[in-house]
Amino acid sequence: MTKVSDSDLSGGFGTRAVHAGQRPDPVTGAIMTPVYLTSTYVQESPGVNKGYEYARGKNPTREALERNVANLEGGRHGFAFASGMACVDGIMKLFRAGDHIVCAENVYGGTFRLLEYVLRPQGLDVTYVDTRDPQRVADACTNRTVAILVETPTNPLMRLTDLAAVGDIAGRAGALLVVDNTFATPYFQRPFELGRGADIVFHSTTKYLNGHSDMVGGLAVLRDDALAERLKYIVNAAGAVPGPFDAWLVLRGTKTLHLRMARHDATGRRVAGLLAQRLGEGCVYYPGLPSHPQHELARRQMSGFGGMVTADLGTRERAIRFLTKVKVFSLAESLGGVESLISHPASMTHASVPADRRAAIGITEGLVRMSCGIEDTEDILADIDQALP
Ligand code: PLP
Repeated sequence: MTKVSDSDLSGGFGTRAVHAGQRPDPVTGAIMTPVYLTSTYVQESPGVNKGYEYARGKNPTREALERNVANLEGGRHGFAFASGMACVDGIMKLFRAGDHIVCAENVYGGTFRLLEYVLRPQGLDVTYVDTRDPQRVADACTNRTVAILVETPTNPLMRLTDLAAVGDIAGRAGALLVVDNTFATPYFQRPFELGRGADIVFHSTTKYLNGHSDMVGGLAVLRDDALAERLKYIVNAAGAVPGPFDAWLVLRGTKTLHLRMARHDATGRRVAGLLAQRLGEGCVYYPGLPSHPQHELARRQMSGFGGMVTADLGTRERAIRFLTKVKVFSLAESLGGVESLISHPASMTHASVPADRRAAIGITEGLVRMSCGIEDTEDILADIDQALP
């Protein structure tokens, strides 16, 4: 766990993205945080050391990343994990058998798989609700509810949750609000600052924070010191930490987060516009489109809409034809990298969700999800144009 010091908190987003949590190496003055490849640290005598004992507990490269992302989210404590799923799992270890979680029904398929097939058999109770309607969240809360878990915008249907409204509900229920901020990133959405504020904000750093599709990781940010102490204990006890090189790669990625997000957003808006024109507005899911049913909420709660665009081509056959005709986009799982990626949620990211459940939440066979990269926008648009039916 790494706590952000007050001196790390000043400056605009870009300045903090480049500098927060980092300082020149005290030994050499190296401007870039070294990759501390070590599993242990020499002690002068038992318990007398430089603050580091064993690398599962602490590693200076990982600490720099934790401070950096905690600062960007406006939180106080960062915890890096070996993957986004390890991060969700670590957060869920705060709870016990018999506890109840209210979870957005449209979360990432892997989050659903972990909750449903790993944690429910261990006694965690989960109710899935359409969190677009805060009243449904309130109705689902019981006196055993310990957390409300949401992802906004969702993957791949780009549905939004009103974080201020759901934060109030969590407060009244005495539950934690846990927000997956992977899609929007702190550049476009600030869950700690909306209404009462989230309790835990987390990321699959595999995606936009790293931004270069060359590692897998997760990171949780908290504000409350006591809750952070509990998570710190879990991180060290369970040990799902990233290696220092992966931490360093994310730290390199966050330095350009603001530039990349601005570009993803500019291209995402144009791609959504083109698809809406060619397929009809009702077939395109993008919160930046005025036709998106929650566009007003998106404008209120996000400062940009990002580069994720989902379109419904009607049938599986048409979707597959489109997927195989695009050239700038590569067919692959994942998102948020500098390169454009395209996927078929029903058979890829959401294959672990049973077919009837997929149909119930609107993940049809005709859906394709696009992660617009930072290639030239005109090339991306021309590629989509030539591949559309
Ligand atoms: N949250 C979201 C929104 C995701 O898209 C993903 C992965 O796709 C995860 C969490 C899980 O992260 P990871 O793949 O790094 O374990």
